[in-house]
Amino acid sequence: MTVVAIDGPAGSGKSTLARNLARALGFVFLDTGAMYRALALAAARRGIDPDDADGLTQLAQQIEIRFTPDGDSQRVLLDGADVSEAIRTPEISDLASRISVHAGVRRAMVAQQRALAQQAHGVVAEGRDTTTVVFPEAAVKLYLDASPQERARRRQQQLQQQGIDEPYEQVLQAILERDARDAARADSPLRIADDAIVIQNDGWSKEQTFEYALELCRERLGMV
Ligand code: C5P
Repeated sequence: MTVVAIDGPAGSGKSTLARNLARALGFVFLDTGAMYRALALAAARRGIDPDDADGLTQLAQQIEIRFTPDGDSQRVLLDGADVSEAIRTPEISDLASRISVHAGVRRAMVAQQRALAQQAHGVVAEGRDTTTVVFPEAAVKLYLDASPQERARRRQQQLQQQGIDEPYEQVLQAILERDARDAARADSPLRIADDAIVIQNDGWSKEQTFEYALELCRERLGMV
């Protein structure tokens, strides 16, 4: 199995890049953030407290998260039910970042992520720890970044497209809080792997980021 792993903070463009790279390389796209989001939604529906590490770990071991293709995109299934839209609200963004600090939760998620990857001949995974913890042997490791202001602008646009209007300052604040929590947690904090290539994409279009990363992947994977 060949793995391209992409990490970086919220709004750096990881999902779009990973989806497009997966399509171009003929690999499966593994959106690990969607899995933490699905767990957050399951916890909210059951009324489990975000600080209840044991309850959340048990839940993480019980639920089944799957992805199914949907045209150019994919749907996220939580125990068979489509939650693709429900996991993309600002509330679930915040909750996913809170529940993902627990070591037991992370162990269960990482096990599911590796199991999903095993079924494919090639995977493009993205998240916060895919280059460091989930797939330390990945053939290509990228770290995507942009300034908080640029990332907040992108996230605000994304939310608008979903019909969610949030003031810029609020989106920026939420991003800064999530960044701080992701970087400060004791288990698998967001960090740049020693062998990752950093792509700072302020002012770059999605297409520019994609073309640049695809070239890197083709070189590294010997596909040129
Ligand atoms: O990438 P996305 O914004 O969908 O991730 C939601 C949250 O899930 C992140 O803020 C982060 O706290 C958590 N996450 C994580 N490890 C991953 C992917 C996401 O802790 N590999």
